[in-house]
Amino acid sequence: MEKEAKVAAHQTGHNSGVIHSGIYYKPGSYKAINCVAGRRELVQFAKEHNIPHDICGKIIVATEESELAHMNKVFNNGKANDVEGIELIDAKKIKEIEPYCEGIAGIWVPCTGIIDYTDVANKYVELIHQKFNGSKVLTNQEVKSFVNHEDKVEVITQNNKYTAKYVITCGGLQADRLAKAQGKKSDTEIVGFRGDYYDLTDKGMKKVKNLIYPVPNPKFPFLGVHYTRMIKGGTECGPNAVFVFDREGYSKTAFSAKDTLNAFTFGGTWKFFKKHWRFGMDEYRGAFSKPYFLKRLQKLIPSLESDDIVSSRCGIRAMALAPEGEVIDDFKIEYSHRAIHVINSPSPAATASLAYGNEIATISGTYFKLG
Ligand SMILES: Cc1cc2nc3c(=O)[nH]c(=O)nc-3n(C[C@H](O)[C@H](O)[C@H](O)COP(=O)(O)OP(=O)(O)OC[C@H]3O[C@@H](n4cnc5c(N)ncnc54)[C@H](O)[C@@H]3O)c2cc1C
Repeated sequence: MEKEAKVAAHQTGHNSGVIHSGIYYKPGSYKAINCVAGRRELVQFAKEHNIPHDICGKIIVATEESELAHMNKVFNNGKANDVEGIELIDAKKIKEIEPYCEGIAGIWVPCTGIIDYTDVANKYVELIHQKFNGSKVLTNQEVKSFVNHEDKVEVITQNNKYTAKYVITCGGLQADRLAKAQGKKSDTEIVGFRGDYYDLTDKGMKKVKNLIYPVPNPKFPFLGVHYTRMIKGGTECGPNAVFVFDREGYSKTAFSAKDTLNAFTFGGTWKFFKKHWRFGMDEYRGAFSKPYFLKRLQKLIPSLESDDIVSSRCGIRAMALAPEGEVIDDFKIEYSHRAIHVINSPSPAATASLAYGNEIATISGTYFKLG
């Protein structure tokens, strides 16, 4: 059941469109395992179903000596996660791959690609309808509440009531609310972080061939602003990460009293702000100041100019916080009566979707004791 008129209306349809390699994630984590397996399955799936995609590769670029230790850690994670073909590269090789990019060292990741995840989600829907005997994706069905019985769960939407033996919720920016509505006493709270993008103009497009990423700052849960060629044309730069007052408000001034109240009555939000206030201020500056955003992009391409970029769209990430304000980094599933809740599925969950779907199906089989 999907509350919007179409699928992929939130994170899935507002993301960067990158098929992630699996290089960043802690070896052995759900993210690492499902990203690598899911990427391979996704590429195969895209080929089988003629979904446009391009395995164009990407570079991760260090611009300062202080980034080298973490760059090497990322490289070693990639090796441990069995990411194929990765190579440490020097400044000369960086220039061969991306002539306008200035770096002191980097990682070449040949198996990273690009795709449009709305196309992928629409294909999943088409196949669910075609292949799985009576299965349906119902749009315009907002789940409002649940009534739990010993042997079933009633799922109440704005205009219908459905009876289910078992329930799996996966609500993205609303994941915590769905779990709580079904009776899970979860101590996880979702807060939204908007990511603004700029598009490269025709002049700017000459400066980027494919995908250029910085070495991520290990203190923060985001990858840092990067350049991404899009499968349907154009190249985007971003996203930053700005706390939002409306989990599904796609404008810089959007405000929801309910979302704001939830966020600020949860102690974890304040603890997160206390820990990361400097980062937060920086991100806010980037959201409202083009010169500041440009300066961050110039770290990778110093010759980038103001008329090389124009402000474009945004996406909102669901970030799951624990009561002590820590960001829950890995995918997370919670359990309650006759239900499984996908409470945290941040990036690279779009890349990982096929493998993670299998994982959830296996977990459900065991938890629901299905034969
Ligand atoms: C800016 C940005 C960039 C990203 N870049 C990448 C990337 O390049 N590569 C990558 O792999 N990942 C990326 N990600 C992460 C990826 O998009 C997400 O991890 C993934 O899309 C999560 O999927 P989901 O189904 O859990 O959430 P969503 O796509 O948000 O879907 C949740 C759905 O639940 C529905 N829903 C909520 N409440 C209810 C209700 N009560 N009743 C019925 N329906 C409900 C919503 O309408 C929504 O459609 C990015 C994310 C963002 C925001």
